[in-house]
Amino acid sequence: MAEPLPLPALVDQHCHGVLRDDLSDERFESLLTESDAPAAPGTGFFDTQLGFAVRRWCPPLLGLYPHCSPGRYLARRRELGAGEVNRRLLRAAGIGVFLVDTGLPGELTTPWELATAAGGTGHEIVRLERLAEDVAGRLSDPGSFGTAVRRAVDEAARTAVGFKSIAAYRCGLDLDPTPPTEAEVRAAAVRWSDSQNSQNSRDGQDSRDTVRRLTDPVLVRHLLWCAARTGLPLQLHTGFGDPDLTLHRSDPLLLTDFVRAVRPTGCTLVLLHCYPYHRGAAYLAHAFPHVYADVGLSLGYTGVRAQAVLAEFLELAPFGKLLFSTDAHGLAELYLVGVRLFRRALGALLSRWVAQGDWSRRDAERVAVLIAADNARRVYGLGPGSAAIG
Ligand SMILES: [Zn+2]
Repeated sequence: MAEPLPLPALVDQHCHGVLRDDLSDERFESLLTESDAPAAPGTGFFDTQLGFAVRRWCPPLLGLYPHCSPGRYLARRRELGAGEVNRRLLRAAGIGVFLVDTGLPGELTTPWELATAAGGTGHEIVRLERLAEDVAGRLSDPGSFGTAVRRAVDEAARTAVGFKSIAAYRCGLDLDPTPPTEAEVRAAAVRWSDSQNSQNSRDGQDSRDTVRRLTDPVLVRHLLWCAARTGLPLQLHTGFGDPDLTLHRSDPLLLTDFVRAVRPTGCTLVLLHCYPYHRGAAYLAHAFPHVYADVGLSLGYTGVRAQAVLAEFLELAPFGKLLFSTDAHGLAELYLVGVRLFRRALGALLSRWVAQGDWSRRDAERVAVLIAADNARRVYGLGPGSAAIG
């Protein structure tokens, strides 16, 4: 295919806010990795596929040559200021719609701020575990947690376009697939509250200020089922992430029984991240009508190898079941890199298949639009048409 694939303004179906402040070199580098630890002595996180992709794609937007040194790039970034850099990189990315997971801690831009800086529109995805911890922090009677959290999920469903769960981090995906009973939820909530109170009294803190992380599998299942019954899509973290995760318990195939159990509710499940289990995610999207897979983080972190990973997604996943995202977090660079790597990987793959005579150009263009935007528009009910990009 001689001509590049024409793509509409993208729908980024899983992303987070960016930081508003100027960053130290160390802080910037810490956002180029899923690790929560410093790089090994004598090494840095710029020496990774993601770091190289940042140095390839971002410097020209700041008036520098591609592949300039990290030090030069970071100095120029500070010279321009975070606000200007964020605006330049976000505008250049070409994303029309942002579906923002607002559940991460830290001073991150809101969906509205992000969309305004980029010249697009923003919507909220509500993170279930965060919502539940907020509810627990306000309750005086832990026995009412089950009902209170159901109400909060229903309330959030009025404005959000979907929910997200990090069950993989909290208890692993090998959970009982059935909804827990009310009595089980009540007992688990009381247990959680008691363990929190005893921990707080050991630490000498007020329990209202320090709600502990929700990790109880019964309560996590309750959250998943509350969300499933709202009718909104439910995003599930699968595959790699930070070291808080036990990776083998985030294999999406562990969700197979939950996928079957939830199907009668009509809830759509969107498997996020997926790598290195992206072939399993593609299989689930293939086998079950209500399962979709996201290519986001898998492409951003594999850099120049994104083409190989995307090709593996496209082995089994029906073309109407794959969704573009960047999973950008903290750095506007991750938006630009996510888009560039996706466009190049998709363009190169489909061009090759057209050149070989295996696909028609018309089909290639249609599939590219599905993955870039239209599948997400359909799944989240965003309606047709693309937001204007500045
Ligand atoms: Zn994310």
